Amino acid sequence: MTRLLLVEDEERLARSLVIGLRDEDYVVDHARDGEEGMWYAEAGHHDAILLDLRLPKMDGLELCKHLRSNGSLIPILMLTACDTTQDIITGLDLGADDYLTKPFEFTELLARLRAILRRGTTSRSARLCLANLELEAKTRRVWRDGKEITLSNMEFRVLEHLMQHAGTVQSKNRICAAVWDDDLGPESNVLEVLISHLRRKIDRDFDAPLLHTRRGAGYLLASMES
Ligand code: CA
Repeated sequence: MTRLLLVEDEERLARSLVIGLRDEDYVVDHARDGEEGMWYAEAGHHDAILLDLRLPKMDGLELCKHLRSNGSLIPILMLTACDTTQDIITGLDLGADDYLTKPFEFTELLARLRAILRRGTTSRSARLCLANLELEAKTRRVWRDGKEITLSNMEFRVLEHLMQHAGTVQSKNRICAAVWDDDLGPESNVLEVLISHLRRKIDRDFDAPLLHTRRGAGYLLASMES
């Protein structure tokens, strides 16, 4: 039994989502504003959250930020009417796992939902290392030279993929396919922005950069000294 929390104030959309999702055998709780969403989320009985961004009382970004800062790893799919890259990046930076821009097809919602649920239950035990960069999959923590680096979920996932394939150039398509699953690639230049954030976080304070761009080919995580 998969239990979902839908936080959405648009009554008509919420009603059709609840009906559609229950039809697919999901158990759905529906919260109509951010505070109610927080109340449900903190009870911690859900496997994933479908989170609208513009909400009364507390907006979705704040709710997302609050959950992540309390250590919750629950998969979050943002439902957003704001389709500018910056809004999407802000949401992903605050810890959302993926997003859908309204209006969306119900089948796409189901596909993205399955993808984040699958990722959420993948068993992760490995600790990956490259030079002085370390990544612990289970706890989603990253260190460089022993100093912890805070990454958003999506930044973490991009880095995890690059570390798993360290030393080989990874095309944008390949990274997107791994990070977003199947054919659910991001829109616009979301990957470029995630890469630039990652580069700032893992490389800026160090002499030897690990994240390299291969123009026209993709990205490479490698220690050039080794
Ligand atoms: Ca709304």
